[in-house]
Amino acid sequence: MLAMDFPTPLVLVDVDGVLNPSRPSSTEYRRHWVFPGGLVHRLSLNPGHGAMLTDLASETGAELVWGSYWRNRANTWIGPRIGLPPLRFVPIPTPRPSRWTTPGRWKAEQVAAWIGQVPFVWLEDDPSIPGHLAGQRGLGQHLVVTVDPDVGLTHDHVERART
Ligand SMILES: [Mg+2]
Repeated sequence: MLAMDFPTPLVLVDVDGVLNPSRPSSTEYRRHWVFPGGLVHRLSLNPGHGAMLTDLASETGAELVWGSYWRNRANTWIGPRIGLPPLRFVPIPTPRPSRWTTPGRWKAEQVAAWIGQVPFVWLEDDPSIPGHLAGQRGLGQHLVVTVDPDVGLTHDHVERART
């Protein structure tokens, strides 16, 4: 089957440190206060990011997917503020405090289990992710584009993902 031979590649998009950098320098960022689950978050979001990502997806035939602990909440609180349509999301459970793991390791394991052999690019700021993914068996072709959490997603990262 064609669909199985050539699965649509995925672009996983993290939120914090990628779309919401900790020290945004550019004047393109706008400040937002949001209240997912009643918890206050201060966000800095770049309304240009939506078009950067949707152009990347349409030009490469890839699908954008949230790869973030925001999960489906990103569709409510993040996407509409930067011009992204509702996206599928990796259902990453919040790590249990008693379990021996790190957030990066847990996230990499959950993504690997969900994604299987589908090829993907992952826009992510946690620098431990590539190492943890390397330990996962049975993954398809993939690339982690590591983003500086202070700066956030730039055109450079999107070009690396496109290539
Ligand atoms: Mg992050």
